[in-house]
Amino acid sequence: MTFFDGEVAQAAQPRSTTAGVGVAEISHRAIRDLLGDLVDGSLDERERGRVDRHLDNCPACRSWYDTLRATVDAVRALPSEEASRGLKARLAGLTES
Ligand SMILES: [Zn+2]
Repeated sequence: MTFFDGEVAQAAQPRSTTAGVGVAEISHRAIRDLLGDLVDGSLDERERGRVDRHLDNCPACRSWYDTLRATVDAVRALPSEEASRGLKARLAGLTES
């Protein structure tokens, strides 16, 4: 889990026993690092809860998330067809040769 890695390293903060409890201190940057995983559905429930809570209270990150999700949806919609077409062509080429 890389949730705190960047933050801790950058701020050079001493490790705190309450690190896992400091929900309110999650930075916007940390949240935005997690948004990709959230869109992916690869966040575990605990982290998703933190992100959700932050998004509820942070319009800036919320709009960042909306944009990211829209972008990811768009990107996913486009290349999947392209990719499968390209893949088919490549497979056809392989079986021909
Ligand atoms: Zn935020």
